[in-house]
Order: sequence, then C-alpha cells, then structure tokens
Amino acid sequence: MEKLSTYRNTKDVVDKYKFKFSKSLGQNFLINSNIIDEIINGARITEDDYVVEIGPGIGTLTKEMANIAKKVVAVEIDKKLIPILKDTLSECDNVEVVNQDILKVDIKELVNEKLDGRPIKLVANLPYYITTPIVMKFLEEDIVVSDIVVMVQKEVADRMSADPCTKAYGSLSVAVQYYSEPHIIAKVPKSMFIPQPNVDSTVIALRAHEEIKHDLKDKELFFKVVKAAFSKRRKTILNAISSYDIELSKEEVNQVLEDASIDAKRRGETLSIDEFANLANKVYDKLE
Ligand code: SAM
Repeated sequence: MEKLSTYRNTKDVVDKYKFKFSKSLGQNFLINSNIIDEIINGARITEDDYVVEIGPGIGTLTKEMANIAKKVVAVEIDKKLIPILKDTLSECDNVEVVNQDILKVDIKELVNEKLDGRPIKLVANLPYYITTPIVMKFLEEDIVVSDIVVMVQKEVADRMSADPCTKAYGSLSVAVQYYSEPHIIAKVPKSMFIPQPNVDSTVIALRAHEEIKHDLKDKELFFKVVKAAFSKRRKTILNAISSYDIELSKEEVNQVLEDASIDAKRRGETLSIDEFANLANKVYDKLE
C-alpha cells in the first residue's frame, strides 16, 4: 500500500478533492514517514491492538496503523474529510471512520459499541487547545487505555512530564502522572506538516500505570488539593491551601500538614505525587 506521508501524495489527495484546510480545526497534515513510525512505535502498536485515533485528517497515520493493528476506529469532525478517507483507506477493511466531534462523544459508549469494550490505545494529532482536555477525559474515563500518544506544543509536553521543583511542574503534571508515565518521543519541526503551523510540536507517549499507585480516600478532593497548592505558586503550601476553597481554617491546615509530615513553609511545587496523596487523605480525615 502506498504511503500518504509525502508532500507529493498528500498534495495530490488535497488537490483531487479541492480540499480547503480549516485553521480552526487545526488541519495541518503530517508529511514525514519517520514521525509516523515514531508515533506508532511510541504507542507500541502490535497486531493484537485496538486503536482509537482522533483527527485522522486524510488518513496518513490511520493507514499505517491499520497495517499493523487489529482494528482502528478514527473519529473525524470534518464531514468534508469523510469521502476522502473512504478513498484513501479503501484498502483497509479494519478501519471504521466515525464522523463526530470528539468533544461530544461518549467515549465509553464508543469503545463499547465499536470495540466491544476492549482495552485500547489512543493516538491523536488534534488542535492544541482540545488535546489536553481530551487526554484527561480518556485517562479519567472508566475504560482501559494502555497507551496514549499525542502531538502537543513543547511546553505542554514539558508540563506533562515535569518533576517536582521545576518550573514546568504543576497540576497537569500531577494529573497526568497520577495515571501514567510520560515519555517524550519526538520533536516535530513545523516543516513536517502542510500547511505549516506557527510552532514546532512534540510527540508525547503516556503509558498508563497498570495499577494506580495511590490509595485515595476521595479522588476529587485530591485534585482540589493539588489545584489549591499550585493556585498561588509563590505562597507557602500552608497559605495556598488556607486561602483556597477547602473548608479548613489556617490552624486546621497547619495541623493537617503536620499529620502528613509536610513542612508548612514548603511551596506546592516541591510536593511529590505521593506527598499530595498523603496530604489529600489527611485533609479528607479532617473534613470528616
Ligand atoms: N492525523 C492527521 C495527520 O497527522 O496528518 C491530521 C491531523 S490534523 C493536525 C487534526 C485533525 O483533527 C483534522 O483532521 C481535524 O479536522 C480533526 N479535528 C479537529 N477537531 C476535532 C474534533 N473536535 N473531533 C474530531 N476531530 C477533530
């Protein structure tokens, strides 16, 4: 099967259908087969895998994944791309294209309906502004997703993979690393797309923990405490939590920090996920 991932082949498809790129839908198509390979390797796709792809575009990545995986379900918002995908993926009988906005899709229902609720891998090259909410939606959903590979801005990849005590460490780092282990897979210069976007991209792989390591008494409260800790980065953890919408007095927060063996003068950005989990459980006890 001929690859779509060259400038010429992509241009031919675009011209044949007189396709007009939409900026608001983030339509920048990949024209580099090395990056496609890195994405596929990053997601560790094998012949046993069921893959959900979001934003297949003209099917460049879809086609390569379908060559390996058992089945690919590709969710594409743009109805103008549907006949194109039908054409470019005509030789792939293991691909199902769904013409929907992923933001409006019930993900669990999609996986149940199209893939019999099996464990999946998620691959997405989407407009930047929806990528993080979509990643969080898949991580938080009650489905088994072992690998997520997405294209993001360098800063977002840095934030997702950041360690404590670094500038990039924040609530996104904690949220992503609570569920998974992030690996930066590749840097993608803007010249590897048509049309060229304004910035370079980074491919990041999130490998879900087989088991969630932390025994949380209340997950929502954990994320609230994390948000509180990072809400005022220059303040101490004591002040940041006391001034947030958690119904504890400053004295009580002080006591909770002592119970969790966390120095009240530390800043939120120095706390590890283990410490956040312990702290959130102590806050839970205090609120009881
Ligand atoms: N995967 C292709 C590639 O790498 O060449 C295309 C990637 S392009 C950056 C983003 C794709 O996501 C476009 O095809 C766009 O129409 C689609 N898209 C944008 N928003 C979407 C949404 N909310 N739901 C589903 N697809 C979306």
